[in-house]
This record gives sequence, C-alpha cells and structure tokens, in this order.
Amino acid sequence: MMKLNRRSLLAGAATAGALVGGGAISRVRAAAPPVGKQAPGFYRYKVGSIEVTVVTDGLNQFPLPDDFVTNMKKEEVQAGLAAAYMDKNIFFNPYNPIVINTGSKLVLVDTGTGEGAYTSSKGKIGQLQANLSAAGLDPAAFDAVIISHYHGDHINGLIKADNSVAFPNAEILVPAGEHKYWMDDGEMSRAPKGRLETNFKNVRRVFNADVMKRLRTYEWDKDVIPGMVAVGTPGHSVGHTSYVLSSGADKVFIQSDMTHVPFLFVRNPGWHAFYDQDPVMAEATRRKSLDMLASERMMVQGFHFPFPSHGYVEKNGNGFREVMAAWNPSI
Ligand SMILES: [Zn+2]
Repeated sequence: MMKLNRRSLLAGAATAGALVGGGAISRVRAAAPPVGKQAPGFYRYKVGSIEVTVVTDGLNQFPLPDDFVTNMKKEEVQAGLAAAYMDKNIFFNPYNPIVINTGSKLVLVDTGTGEGAYTSSKGKIGQLQANLSAAGLDPAAFDAVIISHYHGDHINGLIKADNSVAFPNAEILVPAGEHKYWMDDGEMSRAPKGRLETNFKNVRRVFNADVMKRLRTYEWDKDVIPGMVAVGTPGHSVGHTSYVLSSGADKVFIQSDMTHVPFLFVRNPGWHAFYDQDPVMAEATRRKSLDMLASERMMVQGFHFPFPSHGYVEKNGNGFREVMAAWNPSI
C-alpha cells in the first residue's frame, strides 16, 4: 500500500506531469476550455415555513487601509487576515442582501450597492438585480424593501442608475431613529468632512421624491413584517437595526453590520472598524449580541459574511468564532 507522505506526494506530482507531457491528457484539456465565470450567487434555506433566499450583490476588494481597525496596529489586522487564510494586504468585503418569502409577502432586506456600482466595478459588485433575475425573482413582485441602516452598500440599490425606484411596487420600510438622524439638516451641517459628510450626501441622493413617497418608518422591538421583529443594535450607525425572523420553533438573527466580516470581527469583537460611527457603543452591542447568539445557539445571517453568509457563533477563548452552515442541496 502506498504511504502518503511528502516524498510520495511529490513523486505522484512528477508522474502526473510526465503524463501531461506525454500527450494523452493534454488533448482532453484542449477540448474543454475553462469557463472563467462564476455561477449566479443565490442560495435558499427555510426558517420554519418561511423561505429565505440569500442573493449576493458581489464582493468588493481593496488594499487594506492603514486605519481599517482604529484601535489596532495594521500588522495585527494583517495577522488576523493571515489567520483566516486571506491575503494580508487585501480586504475582501462581501455584500449579501436577503429575500424573505413569508408565503403572503415577498420582502427584500437591504439592497446592495446599486446599478451604478455594477457598471463602475465591471460587475464585481452591484450584482443584486442580475442575481435576483437568475433566482427567478422579479423586482416588480416585491411587497416591501426593509432597510437596516443608511450606509451606501445597504441603500444604493433602492434606485436605478436613472434614479427611478428599483422595486416599483414595494413599500420601503426604514428604522425610525436612523431616518430621523440622516434626514436632520442640523446633524448634516455638523458632520465632519470625510466619510460622515459623504454619507449624508449619499442618503439625500438616494432618498429622492419617488423613494420618499413609498417610505414608512418602523420602530425597534416591534414586528416589521409578521414574524420578523426589529432589534436595536446601535453603534455601527445611530439607528442600526438587526432582526429576529421566526417561524414555528425556527429562528434566525439577521445581524446586518453588527459585526462586519466575521473572520476579523467575530473573532476579535473588541476591534473597532473605521465604519463604526460610535465604536464603543458598537463594541458593547457586538459583545452582547454575540453572547446571545452563542448561548442560544441561534443561526445568524450576516450581510458581510462570506456567501451564503449564514451560520453560527460560538465562544472561543476571550472571543468568538464563526461556524458557517453547510451547503444543503434541499430546501
Ligand atoms: Zn455594510
């Protein structure tokens, strides 16, 4: 029997190389050129009788900024990326809105980066509409779009490149506290230049007259739609909202950006991402929510978790770690 060790593996590789060189395999390879394109990104699972479809908006990649985690040195963040088997100089940021079909209502939670981003990124992000179509979901069929908070990657897909509404028959449900803050002219005038000021301008651009006509606010601790309660998880933004979706004995915590990418911020809940508007409050919210998820063994759906972006959280030393759910071929 062949023993698998480094030497036998290397010897095997050498034999395979010789075979390719010999001609038989190379002819087969030439007959099937690589496709070079990913499959459409949607994935379904059930929460009781409710069907959830995760529909990816794509994955943004950019060089790791020096101040990405404001209370840690860049080298420590790089070590965190390396520990997750990722390129230590590139930050991978997935965007994953979800569709909820309750049987009587079809609802989208968050909208991704929008049609304009699809064009400017050459299709890397802004994929929501293309993937909805691949999943057989017509934008005109949505009854509601629920928004968790007012950052561009969550609201920009509310409108198309020509500023018309992207979901023509949907009511737009927004957290009351978040809406009040970003629509307050006093807050806008006091916002420091940079990220915050830019976000105020983007909010005012997206929430145009057509969007405002369809808008209704919702409150924390109440149902947004039957079976889905809004949970206040402030810090990332003033009115940042998560949800518990339940049906029968099943539950999922839809955490929005309570943690950003899990491979950094579930594992290190004390790290402050520069996206967090009030980092101290965001950390307190994060620790409390992660504790609850771990102790209740509740499934979590995360907007910035790697697609299909749902799984579990468990305690690990002083922190936590994510355990992604296994792919299930049946729904
Ligand atoms: Zn986000």
